Amino acid sequence: MKLLLLNVLFFHFLLGYDYTLKPEKVNATTYCFFGLAEAMDEHNNGNMVNSCYVNMGSSYLVIDSGPTYLFAQQAYTKMKEIKALPISFVINTHTHDDHWLGNAYYKELGIEIIGSKEFKNEPKVQQTRMQKRVSKEAYEGTTQVFPNEFVDSEKTLELDGKKVYIKSVNKKAHSKSDLFIYIPQYSTVFAGDLVFNERIPSLRDGNIKNWIEALETIKSMDIQYIIGGHGKLVDKHSVDATYKYLTELLENVSLVLEEGADITDTLDSVKMEDFKDFKMYDTLHRQNVETAYRMLEWEQ
Ligand SMILES: [Zn+2]
Repeated sequence: MKLLLLNVLFFHFLLGYDYTLKPEKVNATTYCFFGLAEAMDEHNNGNMVNSCYVNMGSSYLVIDSGPTYLFAQQAYTKMKEIKALPISFVINTHTHDDHWLGNAYYKELGIEIIGSKEFKNEPKVQQTRMQKRVSKEAYEGTTQVFPNEFVDSEKTLELDGKKVYIKSVNKKAHSKSDLFIYIPQYSTVFAGDLVFNERIPSLRDGNIKNWIEALETIKSMDIQYIIGGHGKLVDKHSVDATYKYLTELLENVSLVLEEGADITDTLDSVKMEDFKDFKMYDTLHRQNVETAYRMLEWEQ
């Protein structure tokens, strides 16, 4: 028994932190690793973001590489158990680090990584936000690898005869670098962080009006699956919670601003109780009210 325990400890040490990832089947062609509806910390070690594998026929297309090198490595290992396909491309939906720090692993495999042209303006930082918040063990092997191919306004891939349209929002929406990926033959859009569900979205780096507009574009598309950057809902209605939250936030903040409320009054009055049970309401809602207020105040 003691020997067994020693063995387990030894192999744990050899392999490093284990995310115990489980791919979830979305449909016949897509599996996702759905992260928890939480902020990154040393308990989830960054497993709070979605990373998806799309079987294009003879290869996988990977949408967002996840929070660390080890996460990416363990995700691909799990996918190879389902079907051992090579990876053709990795696409990073935007520049927030929970979505692309797994790139280091895919680069090691020689895989082409595609992302927004905004990556060209991103500085390499001393320490990433992820690195500050997760454990050293989980971050092991992670380096800042940016995409090696950039999307200006749109880029089309053709994989096994199927078109993959990578579209840039081209305006600050959730971030200034949002891409969404449309695969008509699979009736699917990967929306990145334009779509959150189960939790409150973060407006910190965004623009509320452009974000709503981008969601309206996605909502108007004739598709069956919309897969966001956070949250497990994957049908057409996965977009509804973010859309409702942002449109109500815009409406409420505009209204109090017209009445001449200052920021303190606004923070106290725009509670949006309907969303109180959403995860991260306590940490993000006030911050979102303030971001919306500052933007609308500026526009006045
Ligand atoms: Zn995110």
